[in-house]
Amino acid sequence: MKKSTLCVHAGHEPEPVTGAVMPPVFFTSTYVQKAPGEHQGYDYSRAGNPSRTVLEKALAELEGGNHGFCFSSGMGAVDCVLKTLSTGDHVVAMNDLYGGTYRLFRQSYEKLGIGFSFIGCSSAAEIEAAIQPTTRLMWIETPTNPTLKVVDIELCAQICKKHGIVLVVDNTFASPLLQNPLALGADVVMHSMTKYIGGHSDLIMGGLVTSDNRLAESLFFNQKSTGATPGPMDCYLALRGIKTLHLRMKAHVENAGQIAQFLQGHQKVAQVYYPGLPEHPGHLIAAKQMNGFGGMLSFELKNNSAENARIFLLNTRLFVLAESLGGVESLASHPASMTHASIPAEVRLANGISDGLIRLSVGVEDVEDLMEDLNAALMQC
Ligand SMILES: *Cc1c(COP(=O)(O)O)cnc(C)c1O
Repeated sequence: MKKSTLCVHAGHEPEPVTGAVMPPVFFTSTYVQKAPGEHQGYDYSRAGNPSRTVLEKALAELEGGNHGFCFSSGMGAVDCVLKTLSTGDHVVAMNDLYGGTYRLFRQSYEKLGIGFSFIGCSSAAEIEAAIQPTTRLMWIETPTNPTLKVVDIELCAQICKKHGIVLVVDNTFASPLLQNPLALGADVVMHSMTKYIGGHSDLIMGGLVTSDNRLAESLFFNQKSTGATPGPMDCYLALRGIKTLHLRMKAHVENAGQIAQFLQGHQKVAQVYYPGLPEHPGHLIAAKQMNGFGGMLSFELKNNSAENARIFLLNTRLFVLAESLGGVESLASHPASMTHASIPAEVRLANGISDGLIRLSVGVEDVEDLMEDLNAALMQC
């Protein structure tokens, strides 16, 4: 089935008892048992709730995997994967990760005796050199946040397979519509469903998908043991978001493509980071592994300073100054002081996140209105 059909139908059929087209929302913590230990597949909602099951099935179908898991946040999903490791294990990670992921690795898991190597993931030789005999996991994000670097998923998967390493791809920026890491050889796909999947900036949620039965067992154990599970209403909202994911992604991609070109030609702009631009260093890999270049971009002003970025951000009207991304509305942010403030300044700079870098989550508004808004703010800089 094609992606757009899956978006509308994945996860459920009309409800058999009443014929309701949309699945009911099961507000219940517990389930009646016929006899002690005899239930209908659900005994307690931390372990499972039918509203969550529908969403988990839908997410798995969209990523082309067999097992889906949903969490009360994207970070809950990251944590669930990290809990499959033991003291002494080693992780090779991309050096340009979401700030919260980097913080969890360095500040929570490093002190539990798990080692991390952060690398650029730009060549097979670089990845091979980072692998140790104790490496169990490789964690990548593509495109990355906020400089939109692109990592070759197939290349990482080949190397990981050779060494028996589990490859996890944070697919948040691409969404399941634009990129499917399992099909490229990854073992686990992670999403902050807060972003494109939810799509309306009204919920916090995370997701994981795998086709590996043993990994799935371990992820399910961690999910129910740690308990970072979402409530039924949030599951309903996320499922509702999925129904229009294909329509929204099409609009995000079209608008972002036009805005990237507009910014690139603008007298006040020095540099635009968008994988859809032919000059972008990851353009060819993105074209190979994605069905569209996404709705995120970042750029630097000619006069690149925190102060000038601040002037820009205080002068947009449609682009709202806020963290997060992937909602229908356009957002602008300043990674150095917002999403990436927890990363040490020297690490930030080394990863290309200058104090003047501005990130845009391009929404689905009329693109002419968006460009007018950007132009008015740029002319103040
Ligand atoms: C937002 C985000 C996360 C964390 O997800 P939450 O839902 O905020 O917990 C992880 N990775 C990426 C790429 C993100 O954008």
